Amino acid sequence: MDSVDVLVVGAGLAGLRTATLLAQQGHEVLLADRRPSLAGAIRTTGIFVRRTLDDFPLPAECLGPPIRRVVLYPPGLRGPVALTSERDEYRVGDMAPIYVKAADAASGAGVRILLGTRYAGRQGQTYTLVGKEGPAEVRTRFVVGADGARSSVARDLGLDRNRHLLIGAEEVYEIPRGEEPPTFHCVLDPSLAPGYLAWVVNDGRHAHVGTAGYANRFPEGLRRALERFASSAPGLDGVERPDGPDAIERRGGPIPVGGLLRRISCANGLLVGDAAGAVSPLTAGGLDPCLRLSELAAAVLDESLRTGRPDTLAHFDGAALRARFRGRLAMRWGLDKVRTPALAATAFGLLRTPPGQAAARRILFGDRSFPAGQIGA
Ligand SMILES: Cc1cc2nc3c(=O)[nH]c(=O)nc-3n(C[C@H](O)[C@H](O)[C@H](O)COP(=O)(O)OP(=O)(O)OC[C@H]3O[C@@H](n4cnc5c(N)ncnc54)[C@H](O)[C@@H]3O)c2cc1C
Repeated sequence: MDSVDVLVVGAGLAGLRTATLLAQQGHEVLLADRRPSLAGAIRTTGIFVRRTLDDFPLPAECLGPPIRRVVLYPPGLRGPVALTSERDEYRVGDMAPIYVKAADAASGAGVRILLGTRYAGRQGQTYTLVGKEGPAEVRTRFVVGADGARSSVARDLGLDRNRHLLIGAEEVYEIPRGEEPPTFHCVLDPSLAPGYLAWVVNDGRHAHVGTAGYANRFPEGLRRALERFASSAPGLDGVERPDGPDAIERRGGPIPVGGLLRRISCANGLLVGDAAGAVSPLTAGGLDPCLRLSELAAAVLDESLRTGRPDTLAHFDGAALRARFRGRLAMRWGLDKVRTPALAATAFGLLRTPPGQAAARRILFGDRSFPAGQIGA
């Protein structure tokens, strides 16, 4: 039986970051992901916000042009409101090479990576992984659940699980460089995106056309909503949607928006990223939170492994941090209540006023980050 210090389940950005940091600190780390290749089955648009670009070493060659302009639309798309920042706010990552490079960095630091390998359950400190050659048992001091919004590790450790989920889908295709500056278009229309937004990101290299919302509130289902949106999406003047099954990449998945979960650690391990609910309840951005929470998780695990004190993990306390999300949770509650296009059009009126635009700027261009540094301190 294999024996390691830490088993990390899930090689998204959260798992890759946590595993790399732990291996750099000299711990023996095994990272397993059911995806056979990290370049496939991507579930994110890959919009990185300025704070993340400032604080984390993402490979510059895998990032699209900077985006400063956001255009917000009411239902029907008439009378949009354009906001432009004085700073570069977003860049869209080319996610396949970003995951592959992060995996190379993890291997370089000493992480053993098993792809095409599914976590299938636990008995005490022994965990079952199922790969091409069948099941194998791994003994580990700690397990890290980095296995996404519907985490099996959370279930098996008896930790909290995400209950408040949106479901999102998008199509991605290459586009020729156009006249328009790189722009993020957001449509507030509950018939297309119930409880959230439909979006087009056109950064002059790729178009991402997507929508997300509560699964049970799409009038004709998510797929039909995306088709309807894609047929008249804004921000794509002069862009031809390519033909053929290989020209368009389809992405999608659940997005937890209930805020950070309260119980995200126990004596046997902890949760990071979507598994921990570390996603902004309002913007649904999870890339910055997953990286920040992973840093904290690695620090707490390192301390526990070095000192032999398992109670260190108790400091990894979601409840303590959750209080800081009160404002964003309240705004999510407000967005949830906008259930008809007529109400959305009325609410959109606020964005035409100076205070409404100032609030939108704070959300879209603000400096607030996921406050992971605050817990465990
Ligand atoms: C459509 C969509 C668009 C989004 N766009 C953005 C965006 O532009 N910007 C932003 O900040 N956030 C965005 N998000 C949210 C963001 O992508 C996530 O919060 C973030 O990627 C979470 O990373 P993670 O590592 O926690 O999880 P994931 O990236 O989901 O990784 C989980 C990994 O666990 C693996 N796994 C799951 N179960 C098992 C198992 N049993 N055994 C082995 N492996 C397993 C999966 O294969 C996967 O690789 C988007 C989400 C969606 C769905």
